[in-house]
Amino acid sequence: MRAEIVSMSADRLDEEALLRAGRILKEGGLVAFPTETVYGLGGNALDSRASIKIYAAKGRPSDNPLIVHIADIDKLSLIVSEVPEGARILADKFWPGPLTMILPKSEIVPKETTGGLDSVAVRFPSDPVAQALIKAAGGFVAAPSANTSGRPSPTTAQHVEEDLGDAIDMIIDGGQVGIGLESTIVDFTEAVPVVLRPGYISLDMLKETLGEVRMDQGLLKADSKVRPKAPGMKYRHYAPKADLSIVEGPIDSVVEMINSFAARAEAAGGQVGIIATDETMDRYPIGVVKSIGSRQEEETIAHHLYEVLREFDQCKVSAIYSEAFYTPRMGQAIMNRLLKAAGHKIIKVQEEQ
Ligand code: AMP
Ligand code: MG
Repeated sequence: MRAEIVSMSADRLDEEALLRAGRILKEGGLVAFPTETVYGLGGNALDSRASIKIYAAKGRPSDNPLIVHIADIDKLSLIVSEVPEGARILADKFWPGPLTMILPKSEIVPKETTGGLDSVAVRFPSDPVAQALIKAAGGFVAAPSANTSGRPSPTTAQHVEEDLGDAIDMIIDGGQVGIGLESTIVDFTEAVPVVLRPGYISLDMLKETLGEVRMDQGLLKADSKVRPKAPGMKYRHYAPKADLSIVEGPIDSVVEMINSFAARAEAAGGQVGIIATDETMDRYPIGVVKSIGSRQEEETIAHHLYEVLREFDQCKVSAIYSEAFYTPRMGQAIMNRLLKAAGHKIIKVQEEQ
């Protein structure tokens, strides 16, 4: 069965469709919906069978826990056994918004939803369509990103349809998402809060609000022996079909290096894909060149990353080369996703002497 697709927007909610979507979720079905980060694949978070269905639809390993979405701060105390002071402060400052917090779970959250863990990931999204759906479903919607496991996360309803159109009951099309990268995850199950996944809310913003915050050691280095603490972060992820490498160094040398790869591929009768920016795209004369956005507006880079990775799946390219994007505010989040998509393949170039 193909998923039914219904369209709505923040200022034009379709109450009748929301009622139906709420009923589908209450009865154990699956509904994909927009949030401000990426599209989510929703199921009733308190129904273990719904969580099992989510894993099956995505082909997601069942040790990779789901995020429980709420749309009312009063609901938080029902699904967690404790709210530490720091979590309260972050909730006040950043909720509703692109922040997920890991807290000790209460009895009513099934282990299927938390991948067997005693903690639960909770987020209160700001997208009005997401909020309306969560309320219609009874208040607790488990939702990972609505992509097939391993593929780039969906930033449009069409992406969801490509991946999951045959596996779920309904897709709510709310247009293109705002941010385009998944939420920042902060773990409160240890003495000092730990960032398990960087996102729009940066480490600096968290430190400014909370004081001491650490970055998960497992995230810092590709060759780290330390495992990332969020089970999902250990998987290769967000990957396009063609082999992706990141070329890093002074921009003139990067452009020159990528052009030499492109020329070599062309001489061999093939072509490469190139992920450039508005500032550099005219400097690549051969290959399939796509601009990801502008370095002057780093939000545009975050916003287009997954879309560009998906677009390359429609092109005949033997390999993809990307510039690196260590932009000031969101660079950590952008590079975390890009490095995972590239399986941490980095080519470092030096400035010419
Ligand atoms: P996604 O739902 O695709 O955005 O991925 C959710 C991310 O949150 C994955 O990386 C999970 O491993 C992580 N996560 C969810 N629940 C927990 C938890 N209780 N402890 C640690 N990480 C979690
Ligand atoms: Mg995901």
